Amino acid sequence: MTSIGIVGAGVAGLHLGLHLRQQDLDVTIYTNRTAEQVADGRIMNSVAHMSATIDIEHELGIGEWPGTDAEYSYHYHYNGWGDDRRFKGVFEKPARIIDYRIYLPRLMAEFEARGGRLEIRDLSVAEIEALTEQHDLVVVSTGKGEIGALFPRREGKSPYTSPQRKLAVGFWKGVAERDPRGVEISVAPPAGELLVLPMWSFSGKVNALLFESVPGGPQEVLTDRRYEEDPEAYRALTLEMLKEFHPTVYERIDESAFELQNGAKDILQGAVTPVLREDYVLLPNGRYLLALGDVHMTVDPVQAQGANSATYSAKVVADVIREDHVFDERFMRKVARRRAERLEASTDWVNIIIQNPPAEQIPLLFTEMVHNQELANRFTENFNYPIRQIDLLGSPERVAAAIAATTGE
Ligand SMILES: Cc1cc2nc3c(=O)[nH]c(=O)nc-3n(C[C@H](O)[C@H](O)[C@H](O)COP(=O)(O)OP(=O)(O)OC[C@H]3O[C@@H](n4cnc5c(N)ncnc54)[C@H](O)[C@@H]3O)c2cc1C
Repeated sequence: MTSIGIVGAGVAGLHLGLHLRQQDLDVTIYTNRTAEQVADGRIMNSVAHMSATIDIEHELGIGEWPGTDAEYSYHYHYNGWGDDRRFKGVFEKPARIIDYRIYLPRLMAEFEARGGRLEIRDLSVAEIEALTEQHDLVVVSTGKGEIGALFPRREGKSPYTSPQRKLAVGFWKGVAERDPRGVEISVAPPAGELLVLPMWSFSGKVNALLFESVPGGPQEVLTDRRYEEDPEAYRALTLEMLKEFHPTVYERIDESAFELQNGAKDILQGAVTPVLREDYVLLPNGRYLLALGDVHMTVDPVQAQGANSATYSAKVVADVIREDHVFDERFMRKVARRRAERLEASTDWVNIIIQNPPAEQIPLLFTEMVHNQELANRFTENFNYPIRQIDLLGSPERVAAAIAATTGE
C-alpha cells in the first residue's frame, strides 16, 4: 500500500492526514508535541476559518463542533482617518474561530481513530531526509529553523526580509460582543491595526485582541514589553493603546472584567517574516520532499490567510495523490502548478496590505468602502477567494476599476 509520511501535526499536516485516510492510504504523522501538550500549552495564534475552509472540514467529517458557539458573519471596520470612519462588510456564509488548543487535539484524535499513525518525535533535517527511504512520499509541514531552510526562498515573491508588523495577541474577557457577531478591524496609521476576533476557547466565548504594530510606531510596545514581567502594567498598557488608537474597540471594554482568560498562557508576542518558498526539494538520494503550510508560505496574520491557505493546499496535495502515486518531479510540478495561482494571490494580497508606508491604493479602498456597501461586502467575502481579492486591490488601477464597477461611474 502507498505509504505517506507527514512531518508536523498543525492544521496543514492534520488536514492532509485526514484526506489521505479517506483514500485508505497508509499515513504516519510525525510531530514533536502530544495532543495533551498542545491543549495545555500556550496560544500559538487566533485562527479564523473562512467558510471555504469550513466546507473542506465538512468533506473531512470534522465540520461539526457541538457545544461550541464560534460563528460570525460580519467584519466591522474602523478607519483612523476621515469624517466617516465606520463601515461593515458581510460574508455570504459564516466563518468560525476555535482555539487551536481545542481544534488540533480533536483532529489528532480523529486521525488516529481513522487508522492514521501519530508518532511523537522531534525530527532533525537528517531524520526527515531518512524518512524518504521509509515512505513513498514525505510531506513537510513544519518550518522552524533549519527545516524551513530546506526549501529555498522564492525571492520574486518574498519582498520582505524582516517582519512588517510586530504581533501581540491575547485571549481576553470583558470585551462586549458586536451584534450581529463579527470580527472588528481597526486600522490606525501609523500605529498599525487591531483585530478583535470573537472565538471559542476553554472558558467559552472570549475575544482575541490581535495587535499588528508597525515597527518603530507607537503601538509596538505591546510586543516589546513582556507580559510576564508585570501583568497588571501590561493590562493597563493595553487599555491605554485601545483608548488612544482604537476607540470603537475601547467602547466595548468593561474594565472591571477585562483580563486574560488564563494569564500568561493566553498571550503570544512575536512577529513573522513573510516568505514564499519553493514547493519541493530534490534530495541527494533522488527522493523529493514536498512543502505544505507555513513552511511553504508564511504570511502576516492580518488578513487571516495562513491556515486557510494551508487547508486549501492540503486539499490540492490530496487531490493530486488521489490521481497519481508516482512521486517524481512530474508529481511535484503538478502540485506546484495547481496551488500556485491561489497561494501567490494570497501572499501578494497580504504583502500589499502590510506595506510600509501603505500602498497607495489601500487607504483609497478603505475610504471608499465607508460609503460603498457592495465593495465592502466584496472585500469581506474575498477573504475566501484570494484570487478575486488580488484582482480587486492589486494596484491603484484595479481599485479604481472596482470602484467604477460598483458605482457605475
Ligand atoms: C497571531 C496569529 C493569528 C493568526 N490568525 C490566522 C487566521 O485568522 N486565519 C488563518 O488562516 N491563519 C492565521 N494564522 C496563521 C496560522 O496560524 C498558520 O498559518 C497555521 O497555523 C500554520 O499551520 P501549519 O500546520 O503549517 O504549521 P504549525 O501549526 O506551525 O505546525 C507545525 C507542526 O510541526 C510540529 N513540529 C515542529 N517542529 C518539529 C520537529 N522538529 N519535528 C516534528 N514535529 C515538529 C509542531 O509541533 C506542529 O505540530 C495566524 C497566525 C498567528 C501567529
